[in-house]
Amino acid sequence: MKAEIVSIGTELLLGEITDTNAAYLASELPTLGIDLYYISQVGDNMDRLYEVFHRGWSRSDILLCTGGLGPTEDDLTRETIAKLTGEKMAIVSEMEKELRAFFGRRNFPMPENNLKQAMLIPSAKALPNPVGTAPGWFVEKGGKILVAMPGPPRELRHMWENQVRPRLLQRAKAGILVRRTLKVTGISEGAIDELCGELLRSTNPTIGVYAKPDGIHVRLGAKASDEAAARALIYPAEVKLRERFGQYLWGADEETMPSVVGKMLQERRLTLATMESCTGGLLANTITDVPGSSAYYKGGLVTYSTDAKVANGVDPEVIQTHGVISAETAVEMAKAARKALKADIAIGITGVAGPAEQEGKAVGTVYIGIDHSRGSQTFAGKYPGTRLDIKNRAATNAIFQLRKTLLDLQGT
Ligand code: AMP
Ligand code: MG
Repeated sequence: MKAEIVSIGTELLLGEITDTNAAYLASELPTLGIDLYYISQVGDNMDRLYEVFHRGWSRSDILLCTGGLGPTEDDLTRETIAKLTGEKMAIVSEMEKELRAFFGRRNFPMPENNLKQAMLIPSAKALPNPVGTAPGWFVEKGGKILVAMPGPPRELRHMWENQVRPRLLQRAKAGILVRRTLKVTGISEGAIDELCGELLRSTNPTIGVYAKPDGIHVRLGAKASDEAAARALIYPAEVKLRERFGQYLWGADEETMPSVVGKMLQERRLTLATMESCTGGLLANTITDVPGSSAYYKGGLVTYSTDAKVANGVDPEVIQTHGVISAETAVEMAKAARKALKADIAIGITGVAGPAEQEGKAVGTVYIGIDHSRGSQTFAGKYPGTRLDIKNRAATNAIFQLRKTLLDLQGT
């Protein structure tokens, strides 16, 4: 089946919002074995919307549209579909009741404009939208499908997952695609390519190697008539790759470096504390992005000034001797955090986020110190990019280094 996505909204054409809906749907379609050939963006204008719909309807089997289902004059998706199919819209009393109930629950009077959200054409079925007001439309006519979904990404995802995806899955004949991502770090893309070896030429599963901010992702994708059969194709290749990647492999699929390191800390019953300077709390934020991090994360101190560092236990002599931007200060910060927060292991982080150099140290210079009961380690990094890039890289690398330290500790 050939699909096409149409993202509707003038704000897209003005560059005010990014078309994340199309990206989301595009990432979903391969899992259904549906080929995506075109993505269009069109403003809230009936003639141009009709033109895009008309062309899509003639060249594709499925049109997936988002946006333009609101209650206002410029929301024209429904009207345009009616024109495209040559059908008349009418209010469906069941839908009207639901809509009025939605407003009733919120103690809002329903503006009469919203009534058009209770309309359908004969060849459309309503797709319920429990997280918003606009129901979607699932239109089937002449062997073609047109799905109209709401613009707000949260509503779109909900409707896709609960209403649209299951319907399309029933119709998908070409088989479905299952993906599995193995995540590695500490090794170059070229070396990964070599380790993949003959598997790179495999066609089912296919294997792709991608560089990402948290390392290298090796993606396996298998096509089969159902999910279990696809997983059975992936399994032997995954076993081989896991063996070859060894310690470089740190996670899979939805796992993130902070979630993996969190699991390691929890398994080892270790607690963590942080003291940050140049990252301004970003490291603490990254650590606490993981649900359940309170089980191992004691807390963090953001000690931006030298005074704050000293007040929280950093030895002023270390700063005086080596400078604020130094490996020695980073370790001293880790030691102070470990003591102040009574943690088993702590990270200190100091550096120059820029845009100006500091203490003669270039922009992007970052020192990470890790302190634990058996000693301490330091890591120096030099990152390119903007101030925000540098802060992000520094926080990411601190977590990487913590993983490395935990592995080393385990090995001793
Ligand atoms: P609409 O359903 O056209 O009224 O869209 C409502 C809101 O959803 C817009 O103001 C955007 O904030 C968001 N939105 C609409 N289309 C998209 C899209 N393609 N990608 C991301 N957000 C969108
Ligand atoms: Mg709109």
